[in-house]
Amino acid sequence: MNFEHLNALKELLSSPKRIAIIPHKNPDGDAIGSTLALWHYLQLKGHEATVISPNDYPKFLKWMPGANEILNFERENTESKECIKQAEVIFTLDFNHLGRVGQMTENLESAEATFVMVDHHQQPSDYAKIMYSDVAMSSTCEMVYKLISLLGDVEVINAEMANCIYTGIMTDTGSFKFKATTSDTHRVIADLMDKGAENTEIHHRIYDTNSPSRLHLLGCALENMVILEEFSTAYTTLSQEELDRYNYQKGDTEGLVNYGLTLEGIRFAVIFIENKEEGILKISFRSVGDFSVNDFARNHFEGGGHTNAAGGKSNKNISETTAYFKSLLPRYQKELTQ
Ligand code: 5GP
Ligand code: MN
Repeated sequence: MNFEHLNALKELLSSPKRIAIIPHKNPDGDAIGSTLALWHYLQLKGHEATVISPNDYPKFLKWMPGANEILNFERENTESKECIKQAEVIFTLDFNHLGRVGQMTENLESAEATFVMVDHHQQPSDYAKIMYSDVAMSSTCEMVYKLISLLGDVEVINAEMANCIYTGIMTDTGSFKFKATTSDTHRVIADLMDKGAENTEIHHRIYDTNSPSRLHLLGCALENMVILEEFSTAYTTLSQEELDRYNYQKGDTEGLVNYGLTLEGIRFAVIFIENKEEGILKISFRSVGDFSVNDFARNHFEGGGHTNAAGGKSNKNISETTAYFKSLLPRYQKELTQ
């Protein structure tokens, strides 16, 4: 974070403020972990802070300290809107353009608050007066730890905050294995453990929460997988009918896309998931190496993200979308297979 922005933030937080903290729609461990950690911090510093999530999030994140204080914009709509309107400061965490908050977009666009962005995705838009954007960071949670340190308050980080920050770093780094995991990330993790992060318990609470139907859904996704060796690509699909058959609950499809990448020689994995209610397919892209799924998602599927993990969507049905997807691959063949 540059000096000018850091000083502006110090100045902004030097007196008690009404603050709203916003994660992206369908928040994951990093989005919920970072917003809650910041929420605990700002409350401790005497601010009146509220986390407002654009919609609901998976059950396996609901144990996090402070989670039951989060407002759900869809469910607590009037209260959430009022809170955004009244806010003097709005922190947006783990996303970098206002289209990522669904129905909440127009409320944020018309808000009078000073915006602060903390995020590690590529190509940030410029809605925030104060920006901490770093695409090299493993996670927004690691950035929240750094931000609190830059504000001179690393000692304020307590066990509750440590548990939240640990969770987001763990989920966004695939348990400390993705490329953005640095020795610095491990030093932050070590300090979080010293501050009370319960590492074994967190892994258990996030990853050992399968229901029998979720495992059957995984089986279905593996069954549907199509391997295109000539493009080092594997993709799979889940239709609404299949989701219904296996009693889909929010979060059940998280991580399924990664199975494609466990195949030897596969460098690009994709999952297309039908959402009948929204009339779209939600798509997750993953890669290993230099092939940028951020560019791919941005150029062809109205999405974006990181070099090796991105998301997007399609308004067409599954067979049309996968046909279109396959038609795109020849132009990337060299990049995917070299
Ligand atoms: P996932 O596939 O797990 O939903 O998302 C992978 C990464 O891409 C995450 O960092 C997520 O924030 C980002 N992402 C997911 N969907 C979208 C999207 O529609 N647009 C943009 N810009 N980023 C997305
Ligand atoms: Mn993240």
